[in-house]
Amino acid sequence: MDRLSSPTNDIKKHYPIVIVGSGYGGAIAASRLSRAGQQVCLFERGIERHPGQFPNDEEETLHEIQTNLPHRYTGKRTALYDFHINDTMTILVGCGLGGTSLINANVALRPDSRLFDDPGWPQELREDVNSRLEEGFRRAEKMLNPKPYPQHFPRLDKLEALEQSAADMGANCYRLPINVTFEDGLNQAGVEQKACILCGDCISGCNHWAKNTTLMNYLPDAKNHGAEIFTGVTVRRIERQDDGWLLHYQLLKGDQEAFGGPELSVGAGIVILAAGTLGSTEILLRSKAAGLSLSNKLGHKFSGNGDVGGIAYNTDRPVGSVGFGPRNPKKSKPVGPTITGIIDLRNEAEVDQGIVIEEGAVPGSLARGLPVGLSKAARLVGEDTDRGLWDKLTELARRWISLIRGAYHGAVLHSQLYLVMSHDDSGGRLILKDDRIRILWPDVGQQEFVNRVNLNLEKATRALGGTFVENPAWRMLPSNNMVTAHPLGGCIMAEDSEAGVVNHKGQVFSSSSGSDVYEGLYVNDGAIIPRSLGANPLLTISAVAERSCKLMADDRGWQIKYD
Ligand SMILES: Cc1cc2nc3c(=O)[nH]c(=O)nc-3n(C[C@H](O)[C@H](O)[C@H](O)COP(=O)(O)OP(=O)(O)OC[C@H]3O[C@@H](n4cnc5c(N)ncnc54)[C@H](O)[C@@H]3O)c2cc1C
Ligand code: SF4
Repeated sequence: MDRLSSPTNDIKKHYPIVIVGSGYGGAIAASRLSRAGQQVCLFERGIERHPGQFPNDEEETLHEIQTNLPHRYTGKRTALYDFHINDTMTILVGCGLGGTSLINANVALRPDSRLFDDPGWPQELREDVNSRLEEGFRRAEKMLNPKPYPQHFPRLDKLEALEQSAADMGANCYRLPINVTFEDGLNQAGVEQKACILCGDCISGCNHWAKNTTLMNYLPDAKNHGAEIFTGVTVRRIERQDDGWLLHYQLLKGDQEAFGGPELSVGAGIVILAAGTLGSTEILLRSKAAGLSLSNKLGHKFSGNGDVGGIAYNTDRPVGSVGFGPRNPKKSKPVGPTITGIIDLRNEAEVDQGIVIEEGAVPGSLARGLPVGLSKAARLVGEDTDRGLWDKLTELARRWISLIRGAYHGAVLHSQLYLVMSHDDSGGRLILKDDRIRILWPDVGQQEFVNRVNLNLEKATRALGGTFVENPAWRMLPSNNMVTAHPLGGCIMAEDSEAGVVNHKGQVFSSSSGSDVYEGLYVNDGAIIPRSLGANPLLTISAVAERSCKLMADDRGWQIKYD
């Protein structure tokens, strides 16, 4: 595949449409609007990496971490893994051409349809669930091409272990649709993709052309239809200019931003912010501080999507949930894509009580630290779910085998990673402090959903005879720190500016009251989702983005040529 981005020297003074960010929201807007014949420019703060250039061992991984700590920032601004560590919540997002799709676990799951009855969604969207929104889901599924792990592929220990847990819990378990390619061939955007080699390293970035990130589909599609794409460009704020917009940005090459490099600007007729929940909210908070009139709800209703993690450590069966990393694929037992199965517990009378439990793989680049790390965590916060002298002795032996022989043996080989989504109260608040986005959410770790999830994870672990290990930061720190990979909200959609920041089309409200909007300013990403989804969010973010692009085109008499 040719490179998609152009040199930043080619950035023009003005574009009819500027999109900020290249995850699902940004890539979808770039593809659809360039297919509508519009001249589109896309800015992404991260760099363009292709399969083969993602970190594969510990040293490479460490170079690709940037961290926003409460009082300082570490790492390089274009590093792939962007951690935001706050008192009560830690968030991981991606940075690079393709956004968080580069490092996610590929699951394309539809949410419980009853969630769209929530009056938190604007009425126009609720009325569209079976028409425009359904069309959005179908269009996104066509491009992202999710498929369940094929029945004729090798059996996977981690999937079978999940099935064993589900059978013991009397729960529904099935293979999830995942954005992974299982057969060599050209995809919908004309990119040659390869069949998955089952290495389990999806969340450190796929080096084998098998992961259907936006870099493989929507972004090349946009480029094929004339979009101009620039990387290493971070947008700081926007301001009104005549009947359009001025975007203030910095180039990240040579760490200019870190050392206060010059601020440049570009004009735009329409601006579409798709910098993710944290990025889009941050840009609007800065713009508001500089005088742009916006809703007072900006930054409110942040959700961590009820995410909870847990580990069944040292179970009675092999689980094999550590990716290959630099190991020879031909000599390694298949791990499978990061997530393949789900225990679906959403069939509850109250939709907010629903949870999903998925099994996960740890990237092989992190294998070295696992034997000691997991053993310590199990000692500190673990609860063994089975008893008996023989059981104790075999568990002890496996623990030592892992410590001596490494993560592909003994206790770590017998450990299952659980990733859970449920429902929090969307009570977080994003603010700008020292020019950086921070989260205020004092009680998130004390909310009822955490204990409910942990009870279910304990049952899933008991079925395997393992030691249940909760998130140690939640269990041990006074702040009950939670971790999420699914930040949502901050610029939520609503019927008016008293309730939210954008309307049902993603257009930004232009004052603190009423429903007037800036015609040419949109937010099109996870920031506009008004509540937790209780499922992996990428497909919903994509469906809503597809719907907004269609409405944007319809409002202006543009035809999107989908085929
Ligand atoms: C480890 C992990 C696993 C996950 N697994 C799944 C899964 O299996 N299924 C699922 O549904 N979801 C998953 N997610 C979440 C999912 O990937 C995100 O919800 C989704 O990518 C959000 O899409 P988005 O368009 O809102 O933003 P993003 O994909 O985050 O894209 C935003 C982009 O904007 C760029 N940007 C930010 N600020 C600026 C700026 N100022 N200027 C220019 N560019 C900027 C960022 O670098 C980024 O490229 C996972 C996330 C992680 C971290
Ligand atoms: S399992 Fe490996 S080859 Fe397959 S999608 Fe994930 S990273 Fe790519």
